[in-house]
Amino acid sequence: MSQNSPKNVAVIGAGPAGLVTARELQREGHSVVVFERENQLGGTWIYTPVTESDPIGVDPNRKIVHSSLYSSLRVNLPREIMGFRDYPFVATKKPNGDPRRYPGHREVLDYLNDFAADFGLIELVRFGTEVGYVGLLENGKWKVSSRKKENDHVVFVNEEYDAVVICNGRYTEPQIADIPGIEVWPGKQIHSHNYRVPEPFRDQVIVVIGGATSATDISREIAEVAKEVHISSRSALSGTPKKLHGYENLWLHSMIDAVGIDGGVNFQDGSKVYADIILHCTGYKYHFPFLETNGIVTVDDNRVGPLYKHIFPLNFAPSLSFVGLPWKLVPFPRCELQSKWIAGVLSGRISLLSKEDMIADIDAFYSSLDASCIPKRYTHNMDFQLDYEDWLAAECGSPPPEKWRKQMFFIARDKLKTQPERYRDQWDDDDLIIQAHQDFAKYIP
Ligand code: FAD
Repeated sequence: MSQNSPKNVAVIGAGPAGLVTARELQREGHSVVVFERENQLGGTWIYTPVTESDPIGVDPNRKIVHSSLYSSLRVNLPREIMGFRDYPFVATKKPNGDPRRYPGHREVLDYLNDFAADFGLIELVRFGTEVGYVGLLENGKWKVSSRKKENDHVVFVNEEYDAVVICNGRYTEPQIADIPGIEVWPGKQIHSHNYRVPEPFRDQVIVVIGGATSATDISREIAEVAKEVHISSRSALSGTPKKLHGYENLWLHSMIDAVGIDGGVNFQDGSKVYADIILHCTGYKYHFPFLETNGIVTVDDNRVGPLYKHIFPLNFAPSLSFVGLPWKLVPFPRCELQSKWIAGVLSGRISLLSKEDMIADIDAFYSSLDASCIPKRYTHNMDFQLDYEDWLAAECGSPPPEKWRKQMFFIARDKLKTQPERYRDQWDDDDLIIQAHQDFAKYIP
C-alpha cells in the first residue's frame, strides 16, 4: 500500500465506532464507504422489541437481531464522559429529549443521528447492506463482498478497497455459562441479549448468572414482578447466600455447581433453589463471520489476535484494523482515538513501529497477562487502564483526556458498584460537571 496518499477505505458497521471512524477517515482525506446491514445508523443503540428465535443465541442459523438493549435501559456512564471528545453529549432542548445525566437509550440514538448529520456521514453509509466476505487479494487490496435486498431479490456486489476497518460491534454473539447438568435441567434458558421487558418473568423463580451491569439492572427489574430472583456471581466471594438489602425476593449466591433433572440449581455455597428460568448475563463473543485471513487473525478464547494495541493485526497492518474491541473503558471517546490513529497511520502521517517491534510489544503484553494470571478471555478487558487512551492521544498528536474525565470515570465506576440502585440519580461530583461544561464550551456553538 503506497504511503502518504488518501486511501479508499471500507468501514463495516454504522454504530458509534463506524460513525466516528468514518468521520476521522474523512477528516484525514480518505474516501470512505460505510457498510451497514440495518436500515438505520446507531448499532447497539437501535432498540427493538424483537428477539431472536433461539433465546440463548447458539443456533448458527437463527435470524440475528443486532441490539441487546432492553426497554428500560439507561446509560451506565455519566453523559459528560460518554460522548465523543469534541462532540459533547449534552442535553438538548429538543421536545422529546431526555436531559437526565444518565439518560435512556433513545437519547443516545438521537445524539448519534445528530453526530452523523452534523459531519455529513449519512451519505457515506450504504444501509441495508451486509458484508459477507472480507479477504486480501494478491494485488494487496481487500475484496469486500456485500449483499443488499432490493424489492424481492438480493443484489451481490464485489469491490476492492485499499483498507478495511472492522466496526461490527461486540454485543451480538452471546456467551453462555457452562453448567454441569444443563442438558437434563427442565427449565427455560435465555441470554440477556434477548431480554427486553420483565413481564415474561412474572411469578417465576429465576437464576440470573453474571455480575456486570446487565445482571445488576435486569435482576432488580425482574425482582419487581418475579417470585424470586437468585443472582449467581463469580465475584460473590463469601457470606452467600444472602438476601440483598431493600428486597424481599432477591438473593446473591456464589457460582453454580450443577443443575439437575428435578429443576434444582445447586450453588457452590451449598444453597439450592428450584428455578423456572436461568437468565445468562454472561457477556458476548467476538465474532467476525465475514473475515477470511487463512488463520492469521484468530479469535481464541475471546482473544482477537495477534493485534498491536488491540487494533492492527500484525501481518495486515495498517490495511486491516479493528475499532471497538477493548471493553470496560468508555467506548465512544476510545473509538474516537482509535480511529484517529488508524486514519493518520493509513495516510502515512503517523508511523507504525516496525513489524519486529510490534511483535515484541504484543509478546510483552501477552506475557504480562500470563504473569498476572489474567485469563486469555480478558485480553481486551481494559478495566481502569486509562493510560491506553493517553497513549493513543499522544500517537495522534492530540491532547490527552482531560483530568476531570478520569476523575469522573473512577467516581462513576465506584458508585455503579456500590450503589447500583441510586447511582444514576444521585451524585456528588458537581464540581467535575462544571469543569466538563467549561471544556465543552469550546465545541458547542
Ligand atoms: P455497535 O453499536 O454494536 O454497532 C455495530 C454495527 O455494525 C451495527 O450497526 C451492525 O448492524 C453493524 N454490522 C455488524 N455486522 C455487519 C456486517 N456484516 N455488515 C454490515 N454491518 C454490520 N456504552 C456506553 O458508552 N454507555 C452505556 O451506557 C452502554 N450501555 C450498554 C448497554 C448494553 C446492554 C450493551 C449491550 C452495550 C452498552 N454499551 C454502552 C456499549 C455499546 O455497545 C457501545 O456504546 C457502542 O454501541 C459500541 O459501538 P460499536 O459501533 O462498536 O458497535
